[in-house]
Amino acid sequence: MKKVVKFGGSSLASAEQFKKVGEIIHADQERRYVVPSAPGKRFSQDTKVTDMLYACYSLAEEGKGFKKELAEIAARYQEILDGLSLSLSLTEEFKTIEKNFKEKAGENYAASRGEYLNGIIMAAYLGFEFIDAAEVIRFGENGDFDAELTNQILGKRLEGVERAVIPGFYGAYEDGRVKTFSRGGSDITGSIVSRAVKADVYENWTDVSGFLVADPRIIKDPEGIETITYRELRELAYMGASVLHEDAIFPVRREGIPINIRNTNQPEDEGTWIVESTCQKSKYVITGIAGKKGFCSVNIEKSMMNSEIGFGRKVLQAFEDNGISFEHVPSGIDTMTVFVHQDEFIDKEQKVVSAIHRLADPDSVDIEADLALVAVVGRGMKSTRGTAGRIFSALAHVNVNVKMIDQGSSELNIIIGVANEDFETAIKAIYDIFVVAQL
Ligand code: ASP
Repeated sequence: MKKVVKFGGSSLASAEQFKKVGEIIHADQERRYVVPSAPGKRFSQDTKVTDMLYACYSLAEEGKGFKKELAEIAARYQEILDGLSLSLSLTEEFKTIEKNFKEKAGENYAASRGEYLNGIIMAAYLGFEFIDAAEVIRFGENGDFDAELTNQILGKRLEGVERAVIPGFYGAYEDGRVKTFSRGGSDITGSIVSRAVKADVYENWTDVSGFLVADPRIIKDPEGIETITYRELRELAYMGASVLHEDAIFPVRREGIPINIRNTNQPEDEGTWIVESTCQKSKYVITGIAGKKGFCSVNIEKSMMNSEIGFGRKVLQAFEDNGISFEHVPSGIDTMTVFVHQDEFIDKEQKVVSAIHRLADPDSVDIEADLALVAVVGRGMKSTRGTAGRIFSALAHVNVNVKMIDQGSSELNIIIGVANEDFETAIKAIYDIFVVAQL
């Protein structure tokens, strides 16, 4: 068995956290490949090392002094080294970083140093080999991650390597220039390494015990999700549930490698398993609830719309021409509604409305603002009758007006549109009926 273990920034924010991580790795011989993030926040007002690096480099870029800022970053690492009683010195590394900052090596290079240095410390602490991600993770000239080339290079490099540390978040172009993934990208590195070594499990260690059925800012102490499929996760993540970087799914998914989200501060918790498919039922009919505020709906009416071929295309053309993507398009006999993000739409609304008139000649166009979408997701809904009915009676019970209903053909997801101000009430009501009532 081979496990790849990725540790997030809060799991590596201090020497104390490093010790927990060391214990976790040593507790299981199969945890052979380690992907660290940069040190994160030690307390809520603290600053992540990655953010310190961005700030420090922007001074360098403007030609201003940055010695003090760089020294503060060095101090973060020194505190970890001292706490671990490691005699390793990073002085030379910091000299190189200073020189490269002065030569304007770029923001990507700057940000990547957080993971790079943490990787060096982690390798020394564990006695594992250190492999610089710049050597094994490759980006194409257009800036896109080159999955196949990376898989070849990395697979080869790790062949016969028993144990290694590969820093997260970055790779390089062919000429060696460093390029980072988007923020939170160490999750992606962990997934790429898992694919390359054909790991049995990708363990992603963070500071929560996996995914929760609902947002803890809305529901107090929500239940955890034991097992979730990639598709369910995609639906929930899209609607705002965030624990894992979205792009971290693809590399492991193509190899059928499960992801196990775990909590560094509570290693005894099983966490959440993310799998391709499972015959394990989720504990409740629904797997999770998520949602977002800030949508508006554009309602288009035209009598005899249903018999007019191409009407929908013309309406959507008006959105496309203005560079606006749509979320949902429920339709009736003579009406069609297009849900869009309010902040993207607001500046272009009049242009879109006139384009709809020009292209589709409707009877009327009416815009409704300040709407929220709530997604109720669950593989169990397919085999359970009455799920939609239960949702709507729960919402009616708390006086929430349902503005839109959309159930995808997969029967995995029911999306409900409500007013922004009803958002929290709606989520609570749905959680109560499916989870609290079953406890
Ligand atoms: N350190 C990077 C960030 O703060 C990447 C990561 O932690 O995954 O975004």
